Amino acid sequence: MTMAIVSAKGVSKWYGNVIGLNNFNMEVRSGITGIVGPNGAGKSTFFKLLVGTIRANMGEMLVMGKSPWKNPSQLRGIGFCPDYEYLPADLTGVEFLNLAGGLHGLSGQRLASRTAEVLRMVEMTDARDRRMGGYSKGMKQRMKIAGAILHDPKLLLLDEPLSGTDPVVRKELIDMIKALNKDHGHDIIVSSHVLFEVERMTHEVALLYKGRAVATGDISEIRGLMSNHPHHIVIEGQGLVGLAKSLLDRPFTVSVHLWPDRSGLTAEVSRPDELFDSMPSLISETGCQVDSMRSLDDDLESLFKYLAGW
Ligand code: ADP
Repeated sequence: MTMAIVSAKGVSKWYGNVIGLNNFNMEVRSGITGIVGPNGAGKSTFFKLLVGTIRANMGEMLVMGKSPWKNPSQLRGIGFCPDYEYLPADLTGVEFLNLAGGLHGLSGQRLASRTAEVLRMVEMTDARDRRMGGYSKGMKQRMKIAGAILHDPKLLLLDEPLSGTDPVVRKELIDMIKALNKDHGHDIIVSSHVLFEVERMTHEVALLYKGRAVATGDISEIRGLMSNHPHHIVIEGQGLVGLAKSLLDRPFTVSVHLWPDRSGLTAEVSRPDELFDSMPSLISETGCQVDSMRSLDDDLESLFKYLAGW
């Protein structure tokens, strides 16, 4: 078996008396790995430990076989995209990349050709000379990723790259992240608080809740653990009466509540992936119009509590 890219054994991190990670164990292998958990679960703490900006109080964290703590040379192999905004608004995309490349010791023709290559990879060539303050959320995210892959790291860490973006941009970013792995060979760890989004990128996931890994491995096995736990999915649109009836005939549906004004419904389902897969045929069968579809967030919180055995 190949060496784990990341290996966390019994890792705990406290901030004073607040727990960030609690006896956390995980092995990350080549490919894309998703870290999923609600706010405060410990996702950013995990990333900060991986890049060595903070140190675990207990346990061992290894990245490509070595400890990241006080080991800056490790950073050559890691690209990190934090969840916060840090792009200087006054700089153009290409100025930012030149600055970032300089920090990695790139200059001259090498820097110019790598910058052009990375701009193509994130599809930002056309916007390279615009000031980043005018970029949309999705463009900023692309440019953050460009800065993180400029030095061609093996491992790319993406902390909540989809947050705050609309569904169209989210899909584009998901496709781009998949291509960074498939076409350019980066191993990627990506965090999100939305399980279904991560599932569109990978089947290898770790679910975090209050600093603990409550489930890790293949999503289909984790789904097995979840199958007894119903999810609430909200669907809004028009002509939903027929959809509500058809949903009731499906084996994955536990209950359907059609809103009094008929502008939406809440479906309680045991296997949301089957509902998502069935939606195109349900829409064409019933002739309804679906404007939006979402999983209730507090439902995700209760799912994690359920998996954590609380
Ligand atoms: P996530 O990224 O999943 O939202 P975090 O890793 O940011 O989770 O946070 C995990 C826990 O650690 C939370 O309870 C958070 O409030 C706490 N925490 C994170 N960073 C700090 C800090 N610098 N000081 C104090 N508490 C922190």
